[in-house]
Amino acid sequence: MYTLEEARAEMLTHIAPLPAETIPLAQAANRVLAAEVRAAVNLPRFDNSAMDGYAVRAAEANKGATLKCIGEVPAGSSFENELGAGECVRIFTGSPMPAGANAVVMQEDSRVDGDTIEITDGAKPFEHVRLRGEDVKTDEVIGRAGERLHAGRLQLLGSAGVAEVSVHRQPIVAVLATGDELREPGEELGAGGIHESNRLALAELIRQCGAAPRVQPLVRDTMEATMAALQTAFAECDAVVTSGGVSVGDHDYVKAAFEKLGGSLDFWRVNIKPGKPFVFGRLEGKPLFGVPGNPVSAMVTFLVLARPALMQLQGAADLNLPAHPGVLADPLANRGDRRHFMRVRVDAKGTVCATGLQASHAVSSLGEANGLVDVPPETNLAEGERVEVLRFA
Ligand code: AMP
Ligand code: MG
Repeated sequence: MYTLEEARAEMLTHIAPLPAETIPLAQAANRVLAAEVRAAVNLPRFDNSAMDGYAVRAAEANKGATLKCIGEVPAGSSFENELGAGECVRIFTGSPMPAGANAVVMQEDSRVDGDTIEITDGAKPFEHVRLRGEDVKTDEVIGRAGERLHAGRLQLLGSAGVAEVSVHRQPIVAVLATGDELREPGEELGAGGIHESNRLALAELIRQCGAAPRVQPLVRDTMEATMAALQTAFAECDAVVTSGGVSVGDHDYVKAAFEKLGGSLDFWRVNIKPGKPFVFGRLEGKPLFGVPGNPVSAMVTFLVLARPALMQLQGAADLNLPAHPGVLADPLANRGDRRHFMRVRVDAKGTVCATGLQASHAVSSLGEANGLVDVPPETNLAEGERVEVLRFA
């Protein structure tokens, strides 16, 4: 049986990023850059004012001096003439500095009498002036392959005049749930029925990691139904996540159906708790991630196994969940011989609380949790111990 690291490494050797496409920056939010990006302009584009006030020649703008205001330069325009001796120009935040001016006196440090401006607090050279190119220089690298376009990067690229970007195609990921006991919301439960929930959680985790979930109808526990569902999913999507049907039960058809369709199973079972029966395979180069049906197992194996692979499929450089340091407020005991990913809640101070029953079917622990702690086999982590929390919310 593979360790988590072995399973991850094996999967990642088989996953190549989807091809690149060039799209408008306005449609590229949360996508992953496939190529370096350079600035088309300097930032700031021109020397400009950081304040509302008066553009001056610093040497003349001493406390008590009076200057003649010869015009104004609102943002979006520029001043035609050059500033002469004893002159100033009314200026606003972001307005280009007039030729000849080298400082700005804040409005609050001046007194106005018609077109005469008295300086009540002197200006130093370049005071309240933002210099051309001080932030970003034309042609500077402002994005690298593998970086995700979050809001901050969109600001940077947009400011620098990048209209289109080369990004990896977004994977479409099928989400299947197998099980005769599963019922859609509102459906009659009957004697042995349960509410289906894995697709909800998996689709959201897929969306959060930047891919596009495609939720499929429930799959009955038969060879035919499982084969048909997998066939459709592989035909329409770039990757497939199934839940349930990967254990050793008589009604577990995912592995056999996948192989009958021509898929190759790279491994089955990973030495972690919950989620041991996780399966990974490939059909026509597309990955299958078979997560166990227990809701906690489904989420944990998705997060620690399928998610890094889906990140790599997008071309992302960083495959890992964000990790936050914390200190345990509750003990975490793992009496088993597999490492146990336990559900916890970490707050802004780094206090880490266990979120209740830690069995793999127990969903109460998921509602409150925002992370996982990887507890080694036969280990008791005591209250007060420092841990790393893998954040998923
Ligand atoms: P399986 O992996 O198919 O053996 O299922 C293990 C357990 O998870 C069983 O108790 C199932 O009823 C439950 N289960 C399987 N699939 C789902 C699902 N999609 N939503 C909620 N529970 C599920
Ligand atoms: Mg089942």
